[in-house]
Amino acid sequence: MNKSIELKCLCGGKLIKEEVIIEKWIKDKLIVIKNVPALVCEVCGEKYYDAKTSLKLDDYFYNEKPDGIIKVPVFRYKESIEEAEGMESGTEQF
Ligand SMILES: [Zn+2]
Repeated sequence: MNKSIELKCLCGGKLIKEEVIIEKWIKDKLIVIKNVPALVCEVCGEKYYDAKTSLKLDDYFYNEKPDGIIKVPVFRYKESIEEAEGMESGTEQF
């Protein structure tokens, strides 16, 4: 049963089946979901989820009890925007 339909990202990159971690802010709460099945673009890193997974994710975001709580360090970026270099030199993508 090897369905080899090659799925492509909008950018043209190949999509690879992977388990990913999703982080999402809901109001002032950060929610993390691990081991989410997704198709990830080899080139740009865009993640795609099937319809069933998307619905299930909503359950986790709004209804499910968490399996654990983690503490995360929080920083406030203090430098003003004028001090930031032009976007051309060394733009970093997170
Ligand atoms: Zn892509």
